[in-house]
Amino acid sequence: MIILDGVGDRPIKKIGKKTPLEKANTPNLDKIAKNGINGIMDPISPGTRPGSDTAHLSLLGYKPKETYRGRGPFEAAGTGIDIKENDICFRVNYATKKDNKIIDRRANRIKKTKEISKSIKNNIKNIEGTEIIFKDSTAHRAALVLRGEELSDKITRSDPKETNKPPEKMEPLEKDAEKTARILKKFIQRAERVLKNHPANKKRKKQNKLPANTLLLRGAGKTPDVQNFQKKYGLKGTIISATGLIQGIGKIIGLDVVQPKGTTCGYDSNLNNKSKATKKALKNNDFVLLHIKGGDEVSHDGDYKKKIDFLENKVDSAIGNVLESINNRFLTILTADHSTPISIKDHSADPVPLSIMGEGTRTDEVKSFDENTYQGGLCRIKGKNLFPISLDLINKTHKFGA
Ligand code: ZN
Ligand code: ZN
Repeated sequence: MIILDGVGDRPIKKIGKKTPLEKANTPNLDKIAKNGINGIMDPISPGTRPGSDTAHLSLLGYKPKETYRGRGPFEAAGTGIDIKENDICFRVNYATKKDNKIIDRRANRIKKTKEISKSIKNNIKNIEGTEIIFKDSTAHRAALVLRGEELSDKITRSDPKETNKPPEKMEPLEKDAEKTARILKKFIQRAERVLKNHPANKKRKKQNKLPANTLLLRGAGKTPDVQNFQKKYGLKGTIISATGLIQGIGKIIGLDVVQPKGTTCGYDSNLNNKSKATKKALKNNDFVLLHIKGGDEVSHDGDYKKKIDFLENKVDSAIGNVLESINNRFLTILTADHSTPISIKDHSADPVPLSIMGEGTRTDEVKSFDENTYQGGLCRIKGKNLFPISLDLINKTHKFGA
């Protein structure tokens, strides 16, 4: 399964009312469409604007409405914390506070936080009998997990989302969340004490950089109870991604997670290494999900030229490399998790193209991978239909009825 994050789009006037996928020259992507069966897909349902996380869950056959309880657990799992059912998880930003106002939500986009995160971890291990697990992630990001009894994720964030505002109070949204609110308040106070005179911040001061003197929490969520992927489908699987959120989804459903060297969430990602990792994973897995994020990033920036360039010059050859080693044992599913139209610089509910190629699959008249794949034999389906359809194409479904 190849997921080109945010690759779907809307027609762009400047390129003759074509979409980036229509405009880009992508012979390898088109090869899958030409030799397979095609359609378009509403990742969640028509009119629902998906997040990358909820869309991926849906495409993997998990009901997002039941399994998604906030971004925190997926981000926390993505940092490598071994999260457990009922853990309360948060996304964390290192930030700068002055006179009780947040003056930078990312502390000058602080890059290295390993050292200060270690200090927080070592100084704050338990509050009111609740285990505190803290871990740094990329750049200014980190994750916080509360593990214990009588905890709730029904709690507001502390991140004010804007600068020059005081951090918000983490308010309980239900009576059962009062203890959690108290613990979080104490945690932030204690973390601020650790950060205040930390050598890393003294060093930043000398370099005229803003200190990372507070933490902003958001994305509260309880770790969902999800069925293990291998148990659900009888397939051993691996996910190849450089995106923490997607890696977290992989970890929570029990897939192996690989981040190849030099790969990022952006245009600069080393897709050659992603192809190599995919080829390697195909040797000892039944299912491999190759996630490529760059198309979404350039779309959020509104850069259609870069989107076309990324598809033509980076994605297409990477997929070409992967196709070389896909044998009859595998079905190739090429799609996106959602559309990210250049014109709105955000995700939209526009359905995404879908092509499925494999030994014995039907073919249709569609010759290229773009937003016109609805003319193919799959017509228009929902994300939740993708896994059952794919399992049936490899003869792994059970008969309904006699
Ligand atoms: Zn996405
Ligand atoms: Zn996005």
